[in-house]
Amino acid sequence: MNECCKDCVDLHACQVGTSGVISCVLRTEENLATVRRLAELGVRRGIVLTAVQKTPGGGRVIAIGDSRLALDKGTLQNLHIRTTAEAPSTPTAAAS
Ligand SMILES: [Zn+2]
Repeated sequence: MNECCKDCVDLHACQVGTSGVISCVLRTEENLATVRRLAELGVRRGIVLTAVQKTPGGGRVIAIGDSRLALDKGTLQNLHIRTTAEAPSTPTAAAS
């Protein structure tokens, strides 16, 4: 488990309307391509997002700035956020 996981929550567990800062992106052998695609879309640690809508099958639509992105359940479970109101800090480069 990532050390940050003691105070972050996976996106799939978040209610619609929840905003937070991405605190970790879990990588598995299966989702490497997905993680890379997300990074290209700007979904990476330190980015603020909001869960705006549920999609069939347990997915969510997330909003990042003016962009919206539909993510499936498995992807959501590998994205963790911190929902605290504190200002986003620069992500540490040390982890992972
Ligand atoms: Zn985490």
